[in-house]
Amino acid sequence: MTNCSGLVRNEQMSATGNNSEGTTSGKPCPLCNISPVEILTEFERWKLVRTKTMKGHKERLMLFHKEHVRTLDEGSIGEAYLLLMQAGAKFFSYTNKWAIFEPVYATVPDHWHRVASDLDEQAQDYGQILKTPRMIIDNHQGTVSRAYPNSQTSLQSNPAQ
Ligand SMILES: [Zn+2]
Repeated sequence: MTNCSGLVRNEQMSATGNNSEGTTSGKPCPLCNISPVEILTEFERWKLVRTKTMKGHKERLMLFHKEHVRTLDEGSIGEAYLLLMQAGAKFFSYTNKWAIFEPVYATVPDHWHRVASDLDEQAQDYGQILKTPRMIIDNHQGTVSRAYPNSQTSLQSNPAQ
């Protein structure tokens, strides 16, 4: 429904780090086999779903690449974060702050994805959230900041630049 094809014009498609076998475990990849009814939004190269386990959050989303790839080039990662931030602005509009998490605790490390959720301190995984490098989006101020597990300091930047 959204045309994002012109989003990253200068992106160089490269096969760097594209190891797309995904057969090491012998189990079918849960992201490759996600049911179409679970997909909230489909982009040219990405799919957005609500996660199966909400972990006590009101909203918890996952954006993943359509291809079974473990790593992506920087342009693609930038596109993914941009799409997730745009979608999140809508899905997380009920809260002040939400975050996109680095996949340090990812259950499917072989298929590139990013999870986003609100920052409800009552959520089951809030302890884990604090241990996860994350990008925090402030809906009201329109700011983006990074938080790392061992530091409370964060650099702020304006995503609109
Ligand atoms: Zn996969």
